Amino acid sequence: MATKTISIVLPCFNEEEVLPQTMARVKNLTQQIVKKGFAYEVVLVDDGSRDRTKQIIKSHCQKDKNLVLVSFSRNFGHQLAALAGIDTARGDAVVLMDADLQDPPEVVLEMIKKWQAGADMVYGVRKKRKGESVFKKITAFFFYRIINRLADSEIPRNTGDFRLMDRKVVTALQQMPERTKFLRGMIAWLGFNQEAVYFVRDERAGGETKYPLKKMLALAMNGIFSFSTKPLKLATYFGFFSSLLALLGIILVVWIRFATNVWVSGWAALMVAVMFIGGVQLIVLGILGEYIGRIYNETKQRPVYIIDEIIGGKRKK
Ligand code: UDP
Ligand code: MG
Repeated sequence: MATKTISIVLPCFNEEEVLPQTMARVKNLTQQIVKKGFAYEVVLVDDGSRDRTKQIIKSHCQKDKNLVLVSFSRNFGHQLAALAGIDTARGDAVVLMDADLQDPPEVVLEMIKKWQAGADMVYGVRKKRKGESVFKKITAFFFYRIINRLADSEIPRNTGDFRLMDRKVVTALQQMPERTKFLRGMIAWLGFNQEAVYFVRDERAGGETKYPLKKMLALAMNGIFSFSTKPLKLATYFGFFSSLLALLGIILVVWIRFATNVWVSGWAALMVAVMFIGGVQLIVLGILGEYIGRIYNETKQRPVYIIDEIIGGKRKK
């Protein structure tokens, strides 16, 4: 029987502070993987880092032929870096994890166990999150509630992108042609036999988060707008609601006009109504715009990421 290969994918963006530690822990992990009788491969994606990340990875590639560096022409963001890693990986199972050691490499062994027992996909569920701000926890909580209300496929709560995927899941994922990538949603949509492992999410081992609020919001918006068209229905609901209000208003005005002699002197009421309608219309237009922008992006048919070079592994350049 041919030995199976486990690929480990690490997207890295300006991670010079943690990379040495990460490489040591990952080396430990790969040694365990070899002990279990698997071959391994580590795919490190340099997402257009502006520090020494690429040099550090390169020097490791020289020492270990099982390491691969995929380097981007610029920063494309975590989701695309992860995807490029998955695309490059050749293993029978592909593990995706963060490069900052927040996803403990040791948990991968548990994932492999479940995979051997027949799971097609094993995702990591955060039992506890250490060293993350209250703000991040609260926003994450609401994000999963909102998206699971809106989207058709349920995204397990408290999961990130830390997961193991069987080759057939990877193949299926690669068949999804959309350009806006929201990996955890796409993978949830795929189905298959998915299982969870629980782990305590550690603090970042060094450096700072590479996900500022702006990137987090963009990710959340991508998640919501690519996985649901329900926001479009809001326009309809608003429409019915304001029509109903208007109808009541008309009846009221007519009644006052004929039944009393207090004629309506309604400047304030008028202003409020106009502003309300104006606001609602702008919101709805904005929502429409979100979808149109996404349609525009899809039709451009651009490649989703650009690779500058691939180094290492047993592959030719
Ligand atoms: N990352 C990336 N490109 C980016 C931002 C982040 O490849 O534009 C990587 C980063 O190096 C790390 C992972 O994505 O391996 C998760 O990022 P981070 O730990 O900063 O996010 P957080 O854990 O704070 O949500
Ligand atoms: Mg992190």
